[in-house]
Amino acid sequence: MESRKGKFSIVHDDRLCKRCGICVAFCPRECLSLDEMGRFVIINDKRCTGCRLCEIRCPEMAIEVIEKATAK
Ligand code: SF4
Ligand code: SF4
Repeated sequence: MESRKGKFSIVHDDRLCKRCGICVAFCPRECLSLDEMGRFVIINDKRCTGCRLCEIRCPEMAIEVIEKATAK
């Protein structure tokens, strides 16, 4: 899964994700959630500030936050 709308791309590897919810708990902008099946979902990528707390705290290294190239 990869978000495409905001300034940052939140790239998530579902094969690595253990659905622990740590990333959801640490995101200060409420960008992330787990659905009713416990699967990782991006709920508001536009709010992402690129702080990388989700990436740093994920024990499975399942998230990568990438700043998008800005068009000139
Ligand atoms: S980089 Fe920061 S703001 Fe963006 S989804 Fe991760 S924890 Fe949330
Ligand atoms: S912290 Fe990592 S392993 Fe846990 S739900 Fe988030 S992406 Fe999945």
